Amino acid sequence: MHTVYWILIFLGTYCFMEFMAWFTHKYVMHGFLWSLHKDHHKKDHDSWFERNDAFFLFYAVVSIVFFLLWKYTSFWAGLPIGVGIFAYGLSYFIVHDIFIHQRFKLFRNANNWYAKGVRRAHKIHHKHLGKKDGECFGMLFVPFKYFKK
Ligand SMILES: [Zn+2]
Ligand SMILES: [Zn+2]
Ligand SMILES: [Zn+2]
Repeated sequence: MHTVYWILIFLGTYCFMEFMAWFTHKYVMHGFLWSLHKDHHKKDHDSWFERNDAFFLFYAVVSIVFFLLWKYTSFWAGLPIGVGIFAYGLSYFIVHDIFIHQRFKLFRNANNWYAKGVRRAHKIHHKHLGKKDGECFGMLFVPFKYFKK
């Protein structure tokens, strides 16, 4: 039974992170922390790193806190939550930073239905160079309309 709860908490965390990613992107990154997200929309320097990467660090710290809670307290759910946040961050990096933005030259030729839909949706987000009037703030869970031909 414990295993079932473990898996449910892991999956719940993963899905909740998509909500957090959407919420953070729409209300924080395109809000009061736009100064950190801005260089992802309009690059103004030559570094491989972006100020926008600070958001990865933030969620990495959150996941580490859950790992520590699991290790040093009796809070066993800290492990599936920590692993869930980490797994979401890893998928986000692979899909958004590697596949869509090609920060590493990998998966360039991915052309399955998911790859096409997720790229199409995120390119629409990048049509907007400014802070205001954005759309498509989510990432891994793509609205159905972007899968249509
Ligand atoms: Zn954005
Ligand atoms: Zn992007
Ligand atoms: Zn935008």
